[in-house]
Amino acid sequence: MPPVNIDATVIANARLSRDYSVLSLAAPEVGKRTQPGQFVMVKPAGVTDPLLRRPFSVFEILRTNGTVTGLTLLSKRIGVTTTLMFEAVEGDIVSCLGPLGRPFTLVDPPVEAWIVAGGVGLAPFATLTDALRARGTSITMFYGARTGAELFYLEWFRERGVRLELTTEDGSVGERGRVTGVETGGGGGIGRAIGGCFLPQAAAPCFSTCRSILHHRLWMARVLI
Ligand SMILES: Cc1cc2nc3c(=O)[nH]c(=O)nc-3n(C[C@H](O)[C@H](O)[C@H](O)COP(=O)(O)OP(=O)(O)OC[C@H]3O[C@@H](n4cnc5c(N)ncnc54)[C@H](O)[C@@H]3O)c2cc1C
Repeated sequence: MPPVNIDATVIANARLSRDYSVLSLAAPEVGKRTQPGQFVMVKPAGVTDPLLRRPFSVFEILRTNGTVTGLTLLSKRIGVTTTLMFEAVEGDIVSCLGPLGRPFTLVDPPVEAWIVAGGVGLAPFATLTDALRARGTSITMFYGARTGAELFYLEWFRERGVRLELTTEDGSVGERGRVTGVETGGGGGIGRAIGGCFLPQAAAPCFSTCRSILHHRLWMARVLI
């Protein structure tokens, strides 16, 4: 379906930490059209700074009694737009264009999904998790952040049967290192998992199960960490 351009009202803004928040927008027209992996272009309405909208992955689709009512955005405060998003309150208006971008390709059992998320790069994976669960696909998520306090929604994913492999840069939760350890030669996260697959003793489990690695999101995780 083509994207739509709307003024969305802020329904809620949950601050997860001093920089992260989840902004809920009344945007049923966008929410109904959104597929996992797509994003919206947003900026607070009526301001000239920022002049241009910024891209944000759709984090969750909001529903009331099964009817789509809006969407949420997981945002990390780093610049002018994300600061305004962090400070937004109920009733504020946000210009929202979307959904945009190519959605994920979903996989069915016996293929498993491996998801790699770093920091705010978690955002596209709530909708993906729901879509994969509906198909009965097993999900492992390699999820890393700077500290344990910046690992969000762990229970949300666990409740949906997602196997979590956690890494933190300070070692406070899970393995110490970056989730993209393979690229840096570090020990944790997807790096160890992929590395293990190429060791002879790990070859059987690797080949007995066909796994799909969502590598374009590995790229995204690196960009957004
Ligand atoms: C497809 C896509 C989806 C995205 N989804 C999300 C999302 O779900 N949640 C989210 O929070 N962000 C997301 N981003 C990133 C977000 O769009 C940018 O970080 C955006 O520039 C923030 O706007 P801003 O006005 O707050 O900061 P800007 O004014 O654009 O940037 C301010 C300054 O901060 C610095 N900066 C910019 N980005 C970063 C960074 N990542 N790390 C460190 N310093 C930085 C730069 O030096 C820049 O000059 C996504 C980006 C893309 C391309």
